[in-house]
Amino acid sequence: MIDSAQPSAGPWDVVVVGKGNAALCAALAAVDQGARVAMLEAAPIDESGGNSRFAGGVMRFAYNGVKDIQKLCDLTEEEVNDIDWESNTTDEFYDDLYRVTSYRTDPALSEILVTRSLDAMIWLRSQGAHFVPNYRHQSAVVDGKRHFFGRMPMWMVGGGPGLVQDLTNTAGKKGIDIFYETRAVSLIRDGKRIVGVEANTADGIRSFMARCVVLACGGFEANPEWRTRYLGPGWDVAKVRGSRFNVGDGLRMALDIGACPFGNWSGRHAVSWERYAPEFGNLSIPESSYRHSFPLSIMINAEGKRFVDEGIEFYNYTYAKYGAEVLKQPDQFAYQVFDAKVKPRLRPEYGDKNVTRIVADSLEELAEKMEGVNAEGFLKTVREYNAAIKTDVPFDHSVKDGRGTVGIEPPKSNWATVLDTPPFEAYAVTCGITFTFGGLRTVPDTGQVVDVNFHRIPGLYTAGEMLGGVFYFNYPAGTGLVSGTVFGRIAGTAAGAAAVAERDGNCSPQSMEANA
Ligand SMILES: Cc1cc2nc3c(=O)[nH]c(=O)nc-3n(C[C@H](O)[C@H](O)[C@H](O)COP(=O)(O)OP(=O)(O)OC[C@H]3O[C@@H](n4cnc5c(N)ncnc54)[C@H](O)[C@@H]3O)c2cc1C
Repeated sequence: MIDSAQPSAGPWDVVVVGKGNAALCAALAAVDQGARVAMLEAAPIDESGGNSRFAGGVMRFAYNGVKDIQKLCDLTEEEVNDIDWESNTTDEFYDDLYRVTSYRTDPALSEILVTRSLDAMIWLRSQGAHFVPNYRHQSAVVDGKRHFFGRMPMWMVGGGPGLVQDLTNTAGKKGIDIFYETRAVSLIRDGKRIVGVEANTADGIRSFMARCVVLACGGFEANPEWRTRYLGPGWDVAKVRGSRFNVGDGLRMALDIGACPFGNWSGRHAVSWERYAPEFGNLSIPESSYRHSFPLSIMINAEGKRFVDEGIEFYNYTYAKYGAEVLKQPDQFAYQVFDAKVKPRLRPEYGDKNVTRIVADSLEELAEKMEGVNAEGFLKTVREYNAAIKTDVPFDHSVKDGRGTVGIEPPKSNWATVLDTPPFEAYAVTCGITFTFGGLRTVPDTGQVVDVNFHRIPGLYTAGEMLGGVFYFNYPAGTGLVSGTVFGRIAGTAAGAAAVAERDGNCSPQSMEANA
């Protein structure tokens, strides 16, 4: 199926594989260089858009206060004056990225990501994306003034689906051909360079010839065989939070022609997720399986024991690694346990239908009702936990309040509240994988893929989840979309410029070098 008023038959200057955020940004940037662009999307139109379509739509970028926020959306005078917009300076962004990746993020890639993130957001707005203040999550009125915590004050109108729709609309206006149900299967070479892509279509295998190809078709999170192979035993049974179409095709195609793997191939973003969620994400209820309020809980396993410091950080610095901790527990499940005092602070989806929620008027009753949990073990854990809390420290969920525990393992560092007020509630979770970190090595400032000898592969570029080297072990929330935008734009610009120069016979030394 083709989505274009007058689909062109090719060849194209640039073929972009994928139709998520990174691919759309690459395609739009390539068009702005004067390139004729086609996009190949494995999914049918109603499931298209990849993980970007499932994203909550918060984005992390460097900014220096309200003046930078006003470059992204219109604010009322009250919003300008009465809200503490705080900042996420480049230094703070670096600190977060380096800290959560255990100082393994690639220096060149992370410098580009951080220093170009605000400009990328402004560019995204120019491409039709709409931002509003992120009052929904991690924002609260404290002492009469609204604050943001977690350094993510912007939200995409309509979340990920809104972003994909906005950019798809712009792609349509700019004449980009989008081929749905068109799964790229291999790269075409002419002996020297990449000259196109072979794809599986309803009419069989078809060749899409192009001067440059941008691979932006996601990681391998939806492929249980690759998950087991690269992430390890047990990962086959993780639930997939997003698209079922990201099975590692782009990575395989690139590795097949000698591209260099890069980054944390055993690493992934994985969260606590509704235990009985479907195998893949559900676009009609995208946030229903989120269980991000765990810093206010104790998380216990089948033995009734705690296994992480739930409150060591705001959730957006730990949620992406705690899914793996849940997967390690017996039978790959845990319960998040809350009492009535913190219930009003839980994210709204805890109140949805299709949530595995257990409610009880006493801890003993809750222990009996939590299927598969050692009741005595759980009650002992709660007794010890309650007794260990520094109750003299005031609770404040808008800062790391230091209201932690003393003398128990693991400790809980912040937001510890005595579990004493019925009704008690327990939510069953398992591990939901979001995306994988392993990717390809590139020339950082062009996105051109290099081979295992670190030589540029002529005509081949990549971005988004396929780019290796940015994330290791963990991830600061809101960085996936920004990374896709920054590096998608870079890859599309470089591929577009190189293809147009070649088409027009204007191969400047720079463009020759960029594509050589
Ligand atoms: C539930 C959820 C919530 C999230 N929330 C946020 C958030 O709030 N903020 C944030 O920054 N990040 C968030 N993320 C992460 C973010 O969505 C990803 O990091 C980002 O969308 C990746 O973009 P991408 O373009 O690289 O990949 P994708 O958006 O996954 O796009 C990959 C594309 O490639 C296509 N494709 C795959 N194989 C082929 C093939 N062989 N041929 C053709 N096409 C192919 C897919 O169909 C898809 O269109 C979230 C992710 C999930 C799953």
